[in-house]
Amino acid sequence: MKKKILIIIALIMVISTIIRTAIVGFSFFNFSNQLITNQTLLIKELLQETIDKNRFIDIIKSSHHIKCIKFINKRVSEINLKYDLENKEIIAVAPFNSNEALKIVFSGKDYFDKLINAILQIVFLALISMIIIILILNYYLTPYLEILEKVKHSTEKMLKGKFDEKLNTKLKGEAKEFVDAFNDFVQKMNNSFGVIEKKYTTLIEKEKSNDPLNDAKETIEHLANIFQFKRIIEEDLDVQSILQRLIEIIKTFKISNFAIIGIDNNEKNIIFNYIQGDICCSVLENPNNCRCYRLNKEINSIKTPKVCQLHFCQNDYICLPFSSSGNFSGILKINIKDKNILKNIPYIKAYLNEISPVIEAKYTLEILHSQTIKDPLTGLFNRRYLESILPTIIASAKRREEKIGFLMIDMDYFKKVNDTYGHEAGDIVLQTLAEILKSSIRKSDIAIRYGGEEFLIILQNIKSLEDAKEVAEKIRKNVENRKIHIKNNILQKTISIGVSVFPIHCNNALECIKNADTALYKAKNSGRNKVVVFKEELKTI
Ligand code: GH3
Ligand code: MG
Ligand code: MG
Repeated sequence: MKKKILIIIALIMVISTIIRTAIVGFSFFNFSNQLITNQTLLIKELLQETIDKNRFIDIIKSSHHIKCIKFINKRVSEINLKYDLENKEIIAVAPFNSNEALKIVFSGKDYFDKLINAILQIVFLALISMIIIILILNYYLTPYLEILEKVKHSTEKMLKGKFDEKLNTKLKGEAKEFVDAFNDFVQKMNNSFGVIEKKYTTLIEKEKSNDPLNDAKETIEHLANIFQFKRIIEEDLDVQSILQRLIEIIKTFKISNFAIIGIDNNEKNIIFNYIQGDICCSVLENPNNCRCYRLNKEINSIKTPKVCQLHFCQNDYICLPFSSSGNFSGILKINIKDKNILKNIPYIKAYLNEISPVIEAKYTLEILHSQTIKDPLTGLFNRRYLESILPTIIASAKRREEKIGFLMIDMDYFKKVNDTYGHEAGDIVLQTLAEILKSSIRKSDIAIRYGGEEFLIILQNIKSLEDAKEVAEKIRKNVENRKIHIKNNILQKTISIGVSVFPIHCNNALECIKNADTALYKAKNSGRNKVVVFKEELKTI
């Protein structure tokens, strides 16, 4: 930089010296032309006036700056001047009369010497002034250029995330103000960015790259997204919805081979299992075999090669546990087929860290909620739940023009069980009945403990009355055939079932239940262990 400036200044000086020399030379030349022409004219005119021309010529020749003067036979129309640099002479040829011209040879020694002297002086002065200017510039420019160099160095360091390079200068005034302002800026960047960097690295454990400013930008963007995500999932209804959202987030990180396993810690069963692509994992069905679930810590085959023996592919994998305390555990397994996804793992971990408490809270709420809608003895839904869902079920059946089957079930001679084997045995019989009911219906159907040993089954979207009858008959037979082991005894119980179908027998839920109950009453009265379908005549009995 400094060199360049000095070379440019030197070049300017050299060019200006050449121009100046040319101007001086040109002026000198013009001046001498004028002078010689005037002298020649003067001599010519005097010679024309003089009678004794030879005598006049002799006198003129004696002048020390005229070397020769003579007449030559030549016709010229005006005065011609010629410079003989070799002999340092100026030859003037002027018209004298019609046949002759006057040739005067002037000595140019003085003239040429003075010209050379003048040029030498100009060059010498230019050289001196050039050296002085360069020295002065060098003296004054150096500290400014040093500041620029330091600014460049400090900025390069800042781009790498180091804000420790400050400037110093002996200069005063504006340069000092600039240096102070720059140092303030570096200090502020250090205080703000340094702190931000420290904070975000505690939130996202990410390896530093060569571009920490970009790292910070990316990380802050992700943190903002995570914050937003957390707010959204807090408003989600259940764990399932949150995990669905997590799946979408994982996909945005271009991860295509992964699984999310949600596990109910109390029941020790998998309640959510999502698999995308190849995951090479043979433990998904039984979480207890899973090292990540058992140890509740990250399993990373890059850090510890071949750590999980149940991973059956060659590529690397990372298993991340989340929501590990309380009732619910989650595991995210990522199969690393493409190493590019590794840079996104810290962000995914940050997402998992943030969603874990939300999932746990949601899951606990779900359990609390299920406790209020479920019967603790049988695990079936209770009457409160029935009342909350009936309007929706009927409305949706009306809209879709679907039929709903209502099966009212009562155990035959149940009192006897209690009386003979005790209340506890009665409970076991009720639990067995509930289990048979659950396993005899579809997932979309609903089994409810309606009263003591009365149960209601809602069969959604049945095609005909016959369907309801068939299911009722199947349940009746399943109960009849079931052997219940109680205190070294084998019990076989029967049930009676009353059936009504919406909208064939009734127009609203209450009416349907009432009609099913009427049919049940008929079943009891007509011998028990049977299925009776409602008909209007039963009402009058
Ligand atoms: P029926 O064939 O006419 O239905 O005769 P039943 O003996 O079953 O008569 P009913 O349906 O009226 O009997 C209800 C009995 O169920 C009365 C009550 O002691 C018993 N019960 C109700 N809830 C429970 C319970 O949670 N556990 C036990 N062990 N018994 C219950
Ligand atoms: Mg009863
Ligand atoms: Mg009964």
